[in-house]
Amino acid sequence: MKETSLGYMRLKFIDLMRGTDMLKALRELKKQQYWNRERLKKIEDERFEEILIDAAKSSSHYQNIASYQDLNILTKDVIKISPENFISTNYSSSLTLKATSGSTGSPLIYYTTREALSYMWAGIIFSWQIAGYALGDKVAFISGTSLFKNDFKHVLFHKLFNIKTYSTFSLNDEDIEKYIIDINKSKIKIIYGYATALNKMAEYILEKRKIDFPTLKGIVSSAEVLTDEHRKNIENAFGVKVYNQYGCNEGGVSAFECEENHLHLINTKCKYEIDSDGNLIASDLINKGFFMLRYFTGDKLIMDENNICSCGRGFPVIEKVIGRSYDIVIDNKNKILHAAFFNILFKEDPSIRQFQIQFDKSKISINLKVDEGCAKSERYSKYLDIIKQHLCFDEYNLNLNAPFLVSQNAKHKYVINTAA
Ligand SMILES: [Zn+2]
Repeated sequence: MKETSLGYMRLKFIDLMRGTDMLKALRELKKQQYWNRERLKKIEDERFEEILIDAAKSSSHYQNIASYQDLNILTKDVIKISPENFISTNYSSSLTLKATSGSTGSPLIYYTTREALSYMWAGIIFSWQIAGYALGDKVAFISGTSLFKNDFKHVLFHKLFNIKTYSTFSLNDEDIEKYIIDINKSKIKIIYGYATALNKMAEYILEKRKIDFPTLKGIVSSAEVLTDEHRKNIENAFGVKVYNQYGCNEGGVSAFECEENHLHLINTKCKYEIDSDGNLIASDLINKGFFMLRYFTGDKLIMDENNICSCGRGFPVIEKVIGRSYDIVIDNKNKILHAAFFNILFKEDPSIRQFQIQFDKSKISINLKVDEGCAKSERYSKYLDIIKQHLCFDEYNLNLNAPFLVSQNAKHKYVINTAA
């Protein structure tokens, strides 16, 4: 990290403007990466002790908590009842309001701090660097609306960062053609995007349009489970290596893939636990403004605790991200779409209160709970058109305000495979 380079100056400027310190968090991560497992675990435990004492003292939700064992599993529903109970009275800087973009039907509203944002970005930049990124390199974001917004602040942020955004909202052949031409014209060095969107572009390139990407150094896939098949497609189409990046931002979870193809979980940023069903439970060690301890992320993982990776990094190795298997739609061509897709699709429409997707081998039904005054199918048929572009079924149905199917534990299910 040359402190005089233009790329360094760009990040420094963003830090000054936003009150973050991504550069410091990145330096820390680089220093820690080759420490051994024990040393990193010690930091994880020390940081946890520190934040637990802070949380007990300064937030009403944690006031009688003295140890990890005292903590109940924290679900989104608990936070939603009284989010103010998680805010620290001891934290003096301003908090940033955030909403989860995961697969949940209604997003969780929570707060984050500048420190937590700094560490989140450091984790992402670090994963790009393994793929070949140098500070200041031009990066393409290929994603839905959750990774970028188009207001002035975000546009400026992307400009300073040297990020170019490409929307996957309706990723048809015409869009893909435009994007691949622009990626070359803009001399993009790193592509960062959703696995399924990258795969869709890869299929287009492989089937219809062989093209070289002379400036591209690497691709980082994020936000969705990256299957082996998708990885192979993307690498063949773009002619560079694909690295996986995994995160659950509200839980402080961030993982990067190393040169040896192992996904390392940054455990100095979150304390983690895998329960008997394989669920990842995380405690954010950096966000001291809105405490989220022993948080049920909804993601399933398999850890490979004994794996000492030959890359030399001591961060624990994730053997597999299973994702949310119950939140996946499979169409009649075996194409898989994560529920996050629907969340992004419906998020911008305030009249949609909740959704549930039901499907079997031949048909898919989109059930929407909408405001009574808006309950006309014409208003929502555009969503059906978008879904038709992405998923292949014999029959597509749209139902407004019909009762949802409920599971035994009465928890709302966003996706139901009625044939299973
Ligand atoms: Zn490694």
